[in-house]
Amino acid sequence: MNRNSIVCPSCYNIGLIKKGFDRKNRQRWKCKVCFKKTISPIADEDELELLTANVRLAKQKQSAQDLNRIERKAFREHVRVENAVIAYNEKLIKLFDKHTLNVSSGTYNVNDGEVLKNSIQLQ
Ligand SMILES: [Zn+2]
Repeated sequence: MNRNSIVCPSCYNIGLIKKGFDRKNRQRWKCKVCFKKTISPIADEDELELLTANVRLAKQKQSAQDLNRIERKAFREHVRVENAVIAYNEKLIKLFDKHTLNVSSGTYNVNDGEVLKNSIQLQ
């Protein structure tokens, strides 16, 4: 079996290095990534194919979940802003109901000479 096509059963890293033999004289392998030793790496081609497909699917699932989370968060933000605008609107409408509007198109001074033009004043 080609050492580049065997897979670590712990972390699924492909490519283990030979690391002596166990008491029963079975080849021992060491993973270069997680450093775990094993005498039974995944070496079957079909099993490897299945495994890589599984890992690919798991990654796809994870990225779909991440995307979902981001979309849900964006949606919550959107709803929060919309609710705030609605509440603000309702308050303004109540204010306008309670008071008459004095629309002035002239200019007058506020705050030490700052000029305000075309203002709407609540009374
Ligand atoms: Zn490993």
